[in-house]
Amino acid sequence: MASVSQLGYAGAAVSDLAAWERLAVQVLGLEVADRGPDGTLFLRMDEHRSRLTLHPGAADDIAYIGWQVRDAKALEQAAAQIERFGASVSDGGRELAQERHVRELAVFADPSGIRSELYYGPEVWIDRPFLSDRAASGFVTGEQGFGHCVLRVDDAEASVRFYCEALGMRVSDYIGAMTFLHCNPRHHSLAMMSSSESKRLWHWMLQVNSLDDVGRAYDRCEELGVPLASRLGRHTNDRMVSFYLQTPSGFEIEYGWGGRTVDDATWQVQRHPSGRVWGHERTRPVSAALSPAEALP
Ligand code: FE
Repeated sequence: MASVSQLGYAGAAVSDLAAWERLAVQVLGLEVADRGPDGTLFLRMDEHRSRLTLHPGAADDIAYIGWQVRDAKALEQAAAQIERFGASVSDGGRELAQERHVRELAVFADPSGIRSELYYGPEVWIDRPFLSDRAASGFVTGEQGFGHCVLRVDDAEASVRFYCEALGMRVSDYIGAMTFLHCNPRHHSLAMMSSSESKRLWHWMLQVNSLDDVGRAYDRCEELGVPLASRLGRHTNDRMVSFYLQTPSGFEIEYGWGGRTVDDATWQVQRHPSGRVWGHERTRPVSAALSPAEALP
């Protein structure tokens, strides 16, 4: 079965680009690689030309998710697999491939209608190393992709089936009503729960290489008045030590260190009754549809 190899990029439509730029650069330690003519911010966190892209827009939600595959052949195989599952896949075209800084891409909608893109050949800037004095240890990326994405979907069971059978992802574990999926050693690239809320994106997670960089980002939130969504804590399933901040779009960013990895040869799916080993007390509700007791990664 063809499988996507990483959560390579994502885009959001955001209503306050200026506030986002301050957050991205001064708190998260990302680099503005480029700006589009409409003000779009292309953000960099490693050798990739862009990982997170923020487009001007009123939605304040996820705009698209980019799934990387190995090469042209893998793109063809994965697209055929998605079509066999009953979803339609279209060629993204040369212009969009250029805008996403990839060699080639295909476009489809996931079962909740979330725009998704399959691509190969991301542009990388080996000659211009990513350096950040805010995330001095650097981000954990490479084969693990940019981080993870947690979504509110229409029907989690149907979506899990789609991501496993059409995109080749595997279940890592469950916490309450949430399912965690992986496609490489990162414990999860995607997690989801059913929700009737219109905003799809709960959070993006970015992982740094040192606990001190998490602590410093935590301090900067306080200094710069960035609202936290949860205090520092450690998750049960991926063991990530992290905190959650609220972005200017309302959705959250989890900033973490120390996540464990998955080896498919030996991994056993587990179920966790709680998401937290310690900490992670919510300072705002996760979702109107979830009680605080269900407040999970
Ligand atoms: Fe998370």
